[in-house]
Amino acid sequence: MTDCLFCKMVAGEITPDTVYENDDVLAFRDINPQASTHVLVVPRQHVATLNDLDAANADLIGKMMLAAAAVAKQEGIAEQGYRTVMNCNAHGGQTVFHIHLHLLGGRAMGWPPG
Ligand code: AMP
Ligand code: ZN
Repeated sequence: MTDCLFCKMVAGEITPDTVYENDDVLAFRDINPQASTHVLVVPRQHVATLNDLDAANADLIGKMMLAAAAVAKQEGIAEQGYRTVMNCNAHGGQTVFHIHLHLLGGRAMGWPPG
């Protein structure tokens, strides 16, 4: 996807503040952080929204979650806790249409979310 921001990061055309990467995912700091730790975990494969996931690529979600847990440990927030969020489409608040997991931590989160 040539016009996708996160695909450009995966391709190295834009350099994010990367904190973790492996063969399947890239994780980098959100440009507009909502907590002291706010990292986005992005699969290298382009999938626009959660609605576009299917049985063939559903394993990406587990890989994203494992990466988020690894980043939480790396950031020193694993024991106190953190939140992982994936927004979908307009009502979910999705603005970048390449699936990503928000990892938020370093403060207590409110519930329900806004
Ligand atoms: P969402 O609204 O769930 O689609 O999340 C998209 C996130 O991407 C937002 O939290 C933005 O702050 C973040 N974002 C947008 N552009 C960049 C960028 N160039 N580098 C890092 N994060 C970004
Ligand atoms: Zn993409």
